[in-house]
Amino acid sequence: MPTLSPTLDDLVDALKRLPGLGPRSASRIAEQLLSDDRRQAAKLLKTLERAVKTVKHCELCNTLTDEVVCPICADASRDRTKICIVETPADQRVIEETMAYRGLYFVLMGLISPVKGIGAEDINMQKLLERVKKDKLVREVLIATPFTPEGDATAHFIAKAMASVAPQIRVTRLARGIPAGVELEYTDANTIAGAIFGRR
Ligand SMILES: [Zn+2]
Repeated sequence: MPTLSPTLDDLVDALKRLPGLGPRSASRIAEQLLSDDRRQAAKLLKTLERAVKTVKHCELCNTLTDEVVCPICADASRDRTKICIVETPADQRVIEETMAYRGLYFVLMGLISPVKGIGAEDINMQKLLERVKKDKLVREVLIATPFTPEGDATAHFIAKAMASVAPQIRVTRLARGIPAGVELEYTDANTIAGAIFGRR
């Protein structure tokens, strides 16, 4: 079939790059957005534009927020001796929902992956190390990266780096009990709460 709309093809291509979207769902979303009623598309466009302009990384924990310092980092009632390291803001949200953890966070926005050629310099490791070097209150770093090869590589790197820049800080990892290869985002709150208390 000849290309009917190169513009539509470009839209499908752009959507295909989003996580979890294959070619079929990308096409369906594109066609839905371009259906006769285009109010949905207009609303999405406006919301996306505002989000791209407004949402930034918290200066301290690197999570996505509208503020310079996010509400969790700014909350004086949080336990400032603990930092929990997660891959994504979605993982952070899962841990918050367990209500088992009252410390602070650091969000890497990625994992080290030798296979994909992603090194420590490509995720926000430097920002994390600078933070723990400067922040004298931190006593424990709790690594909550997933139990996947990438999550393991990242945890291993963090443990080694922490031992050299801040050897006084205790480094623990969210205990197993969370099935290997399963993303935190899809793990139930009780299992995560158990893993937080069972950490080694
Ligand atoms: Zn923050």
